Amino acid sequence: MSGLDTPDTLIDRLKETRTLTREQWVRLITGCDKATEAWLFDEARAVRHSVYGRDVYIRGLIEISNICKNDCLYCGIRRSNRNADRYRLTSEQILACAEYGYRLGFRTFVLQGGEDSYYTDELMCELVAELKQKYPDCAVTLSLGERGEKSFTRLFEAGADRYLLRHETANPEHYASIHPPEMKLSDRLECLRALKRIGYQVGSGFMVGSPGQTAENLAEDMLLLQELQPQMVGIGPFIPHKDTPFGSRPAGTVELTVRLLAMIRLMLPHALIPATTALGTLDPDGREKGILAGANVIMPNLSPPDTREKYSLYDNKLCTGDEAAESLNSLKKRIESIGYRIVEERGDYKP
Ligand code: SAM
Repeated sequence: MSGLDTPDTLIDRLKETRTLTREQWVRLITGCDKATEAWLFDEARAVRHSVYGRDVYIRGLIEISNICKNDCLYCGIRRSNRNADRYRLTSEQILACAEYGYRLGFRTFVLQGGEDSYYTDELMCELVAELKQKYPDCAVTLSLGERGEKSFTRLFEAGADRYLLRHETANPEHYASIHPPEMKLSDRLECLRALKRIGYQVGSGFMVGSPGQTAENLAEDMLLLQELQPQMVGIGPFIPHKDTPFGSRPAGTVELTVRLLAMIRLMLPHALIPATTALGTLDPDGREKGILAGANVIMPNLSPPDTREKYSLYDNKLCTGDEAAESLNSLKKRIESIGYRIVEERGDYKP
């Protein structure tokens, strides 16, 4: 009977069964205090070590365009933001980023951008094929928003290995309150299911502390991840962007984000889970806190330096210092200082 469960017994149950009921999730999320947290992190690390050891995978993030047809209320590159200084990278620029990244040691390239119709299937398939031909030992991850199943299939056949598409929130009403009317949670979920069917390593995830989010919503996020069984899960705190309708809303917290991250590690032991840029933006030690809560991926920025500031999803987004791909050596030292090591491998999902 869930009413009698303490957070500690719920963590035990989660470890054993890899699942909780909606009520139990709410109880664990709202009842996890500092005392429970240390134990939660220990358990999450133990599970992570049993699957991925102390390896931390790196991904070179190439932000290919900040032009977007969507108008998500939280996002700084939404189409209504007239203050955004728009750019898009050509295939040549993207290939140059990859070449530089390969020399630095990256073996996964993540091509992420707004939903920009410039990147047709033809252009993207050609680009993906060229990347795979030049760097056969590398994985290509795409994060280009919603596309049709045919498009996903063509990109997969061209060589794309992984696709990141956060569901953002699993509650349809909450989804509607942070997105424009033309965007539907059901469309997003259909994309995620199609990506899985096609054979991608699929990433989903959500923002923590987005406006209007409740503990029940977070429980629903956990249940959705449990059902989807994605290979990758990206969660990060919501951070306001001044030129959006949510510009004066409070940010999510690092504390809740890392606790949820640890719970996701216990639920999906094999998942690839990044310590996200948003975590590092809110807290200079945010990424380390993420790794110590069970994350095993970091995505340094490999975009051309003069475009990094323009890919402004939220205020003060980190894009320099250890967030920058060129600072890999310094990042390596920081990760070593907390007992982990960055490895220069593709870093695939281990089933
Ligand atoms: N267009 C693609 C898509 O929709 O998946 C990829 C780009 S989108 C900007 C990448 C992610 O940024 C989103 O999934 C969202 O969770 C995150 N994001 C956007 N605005 C944010 C904000 N204000 N705070 C934190 N994360 C944000």
